[in-house]
Amino acid sequence: MKPIFLDHASTTPLDPVVAEIMVEVLKGDLGTGNPSSGTHAFGWDAATAIESARAEVAALIGARAEDIIFTSGATESDNLAILGFARGRADQGRHLVTSRTEHKAVLDCARQLEKRGWQVGWLTPDRDGRIDPAAVAAALRADTQLVSIMQANNETGVVHDIAAIAMICRARGVCLHSDAAQSVGRMLINVESLGIDLLSISAHKLYGPKGIGALWVSPRARPWIEPIMWGGGHERGLRPGTLATHQIVGFGRAAAQAREHCESDARHIEALAERFRSGLADLGGLRWNDHPVHRLPGLVSLSIAGVEGESLIAAMPAIAVSSGAACDSASGEPSYVLRAQGVKAELAQSTLRVAFGRFNTESDAAVAVSAIREAVTELRSQDAPGSPAGVYWKMGKSGSLREGAQVRCFVRLDAARRIAAVEFRAATCPGVRVVLEGLKSELVGRFAATPELGDPRDWARRFGLPTEKLGRLFRVEDALRAALEAAGET
Ligand SMILES: *Cc1c(COP(=O)(O)O)cnc(C)c1O
Repeated sequence: MKPIFLDHASTTPLDPVVAEIMVEVLKGDLGTGNPSSGTHAFGWDAATAIESARAEVAALIGARAEDIIFTSGATESDNLAILGFARGRADQGRHLVTSRTEHKAVLDCARQLEKRGWQVGWLTPDRDGRIDPAAVAAALRADTQLVSIMQANNETGVVHDIAAIAMICRARGVCLHSDAAQSVGRMLINVESLGIDLLSISAHKLYGPKGIGALWVSPRARPWIEPIMWGGGHERGLRPGTLATHQIVGFGRAAAQAREHCESDARHIEALAERFRSGLADLGGLRWNDHPVHRLPGLVSLSIAGVEGESLIAAMPAIAVSSGAACDSASGEPSYVLRAQGVKAELAQSTLRVAFGRFNTESDAAVAVSAIREAVTELRSQDAPGSPAGVYWKMGKSGSLREGAQVRCFVRLDAARRIAAVEFRAATCPGVRVVLEGLKSELVGRFAATPELGDPRDWARRFGLPTEKLGRLFRVEDALRAALEAAGET
């Protein structure tokens, strides 16, 4: 059985009407023509289809069609906005302001600029996760050229006050870019009334195809941007390459759907989120990371004390949700977004992000509630895995929960002092989990006194784990040895 998809902040499924029109394009003449070919009907028709899609995308954000630049997605849009701006304006000053809780696409662009001599003012959100517009004002310097603040955060769903930030930027003549990949389609937005200059959009966050997005470039900002790729002058000289007709037509249809359904979608998914929140309210030890008022509809971020996030997710095969980005870095360091919000590492590593979508139902929300309740109750109650009466598990552990890097290992021996079963409880990534599963099955049947464990380097090689995750395996080894030692003493 496939799990229920509750991870709509990471991507959304294609709306069936979008898939349908894309297949039509791919199969028909529209898929043949190069939209840049001006000499025949194949080209003209493709160009016409692209222009009507462009108009749909523009209408969704209250923009003019000619200011939409198609890209491969919000990552590229962020790169074009920030690096393209830096190329166009470096001679005017080299200071930009952004926040520590931006998407990696913005963070990494800012870090690249830092390496090239730019200075970056890094803002930290308040306890409630929001960036205070006054903090933006305070960070502006005489040489500040660009501010990049996302409209809604992808981990917590908190919505920033972009209109207020834009007012500050306008007054100081500073360009404002906003990554709106999470908000476009979930909230009605209008670039004119927001008063911003550059806006990034991704089609696959609004039930469109992956691999296509857009950067909205205001007429005011157009002269400030230089392309970051070269080769043919497409997209008003900002983004070369043959336009992907099927992707763009799908994006256009998804945008039209979003415009039509935005408000009813929002009501629907927020009702599911409410049902979900109230179903868990009495569980205890919960920290709701989403903002009480300024948040995306349908997205819930919660940290659950006393359980490890990855163990929790592994214990809920019925639902597909995201952990608090615990596996993003090689170190297994917990969510930088929640940490920046002041959430302790121990709690941040036990975070779930549940994001409802257009096609979820009430029963999906109910399944999510019971899956989480059952898994949390079990993980909290047991110090050892569920064991038949009279069978005793021995535990060994390594690392601390505080660092978000604890591994606990449980072993059970049979009467002949062979290993009967091994269990791990660890905040780990999928790659490490493969190693744990492999070890579990290999060790069963071996004598506890001579288990021939091998070593982590060898495990990593055999189970295909990247070497930068080795650190975690040394913890596994320590916990396993400690558990075997504890078992040997009885
Ligand atoms: C998903 C997302 C991106 C990346 O978008 P792609 O189209 O996958 O490149 C960028 N920023 C935010 C806030 C996102 O949620």
